[in-house]
Amino acid sequence: MAKIAWVDEDVCISCGLCVNNLSGVFRFNDDGKAECYNPEGAAEDEIQREAIDACPVSCIHWKE
Ligand code: SF4
Repeated sequence: MAKIAWVDEDVCISCGLCVNNLSGVFRFNDDGKAECYNPEGAAEDEIQREAIDACPVSCIHWKE
């Protein structure tokens, strides 16, 4: 089963890094927190590198 990225919104500080790096996968929701609206918008290794590893508060995780 494909891995799907999700954002722990309680921890997200809305820095915008994942939204800027992967705008085809992440966006801000109405609360101003990042959300993964299109899990298949980028390859898994790209999501790992550009979002999960890059998030300053490590609040993006894989859900299987
Ligand atoms: Fe939130 Fe992390 Fe994305 Fe920044 S990189 S907007 S803290 S999920």
